[in-house]
Amino acid sequence: TTFDSFGLDPRILQAINELGYEHPTLVQAKAIPLALQEKRDVIAKASTGTGKTAAYCIPILQSILSNNNRTPGIQAVILVPTRELSVQVDKFLDSLTSFCSKKVKCLNLSNSVSEQIHLAQLSELPEIVISTPTKLLQLLKKSSKVNLSQLKYFVIDEVDLIFSYGYDDDLKELTELYLNLQNKIQVFLMSATMNEDVEQLKALYCKAPAVLKL
Ligand code: AMP
Repeated sequence: TTFDSFGLDPRILQAINELGYEHPTLVQAKAIPLALQEKRDVIAKASTGTGKTAAYCIPILQSILSNNNRTPGIQAVILVPTRELSVQVDKFLDSLTSFCSKKVKCLNLSNSVSEQIHLAQLSELPEIVISTPTKLLQLLKKSSKVNLSQLKYFVIDEVDLIFSYGYDDDLKELTELYLNLQNKIQVFLMSATMNEDVEQLKALYCKAPAVLKL
């Protein structure tokens, strides 16, 4: 498999080339066509080092770029368990979008700037938001101007750590109060282990997901 075979926007291919990626990793080769061509939800057993970040970021960016009449608002939420991971994902998206002249705006909420600054950044309507469940929930509660009414893509990265770090209550509350799962949202769940927590989220969020146990 090559990146050329996925029908990606040339700006994404150029960024992949610039990153020096020659071939998709296993999880990318499986997840990207399932997400893009088949519009499937994807659950992948994938730990750090497998290329899991690109496996969800590439299809999400491709879908955002190919939608020419999107309503302004948050299109994608990427939930992560740690600030380190949020920085990595943000950096990767920055590289991936570097050839998009009208930048696709990404906002990382898992840094230590004040709530006021985050609310101001959110009012600029980023397309992609990266956050821990707790931080996003706090900001959604704080201002009704922050909402997920335009959400189309929902990622939970390192699901196993989201649970073991105790984010499950906030994730539950965020889902119940702010996620309208009736709107068809494409879901990506990434986890190093496939356990009961993943099964629980699968039942809650996914419709006929592709489950990749690589
Ligand atoms: P991840 O599993 O997403 O944390 O990625 C692990 C590392 O692999 C990161 O440094 C990526 O830049 C790199 N990487 C991801 N996909 C590829 C690829 N297709 N070819 C070469 N390196 C990659």
